[in-house]
Amino acid sequence: MIIQNLTTIEETISESCKKANRLRQDITLIAVSKTQPLPLLLEAYEWGCRDFGENKVQEIIEKYDKMPKDVCWHMIGHLQRNKVKSIIDKVSLIHSVDSLRLAQEISKQALLKKSKMSILVEINIALEPNKYGLAINELVSFLEEISELKGISVEGFMIIAPFVENSEENRQYFKKLLKLSVDIKSKNIDNVIVDILSMGMSGDYKVAIEEGSTLIRIGTSIFGPRQ
Ligand SMILES: *Cc1c(COP(=O)(O)O)cnc(C)c1O
Repeated sequence: MIIQNLTTIEETISESCKKANRLRQDITLIAVSKTQPLPLLLEAYEWGCRDFGENKVQEIIEKYDKMPKDVCWHMIGHLQRNKVKSIIDKVSLIHSVDSLRLAQEISKQALLKKSKMSILVEINIALEPNKYGLAINELVSFLEEISELKGISVEGFMIIAPFVENSEENRQYFKKLLKLSVDIKSKNIDNVIVDILSMGMSGDYKVAIEEGSTLIRIGTSIFGPRQ
């Protein structure tokens, strides 16, 4: 089942790339495995998935120990400062940084490990009241503040687009994030590279790829409904 789902998704990604005149290699598929049991993750791994996304620290810790060591783990959920310590040496990318205090803690823990953590800034692109993330008008001052922190490098942005029936409704937000990334790049803020756009989920990844996504986060379409 999972193999079949992944094959179908891979075909869809290729079609979207063709349509948008983009290279397949410029897009990374993250298998969002939250709540899913290990055998299903292993099936996805066998097929070729090496990037897995989780939204709970405890689940990353447990799965990290049991999965092969060449997996890249992505923290895609809201992260509490007191839990940064336990994942700092386990994850490749934290997608959900939305406060200075969280960025400071990541910086501190990375420096203690003498390493550098790659992060994305989460943006609340549609200004939905129930979502985490910075408003666009807060972004530049935020980036200027965190650009001074050692031990972290800002590599791009993440959005969770609104839940919609028709994915075309989200195209405007994907476009907006791409434009924002171009604007920010032109400001040349120290320590801020904006190469990664983490946008697109099961319902809207086709549109997200057409609009410039570099990381798509897909759960349900790979693994089926969550447990
Ligand atoms: C759960 C989750 C996903 C995957 O959503 P699907 O609709 O199941 O593909 C992607 N991104 C984030 C941040 C999530 O929490």
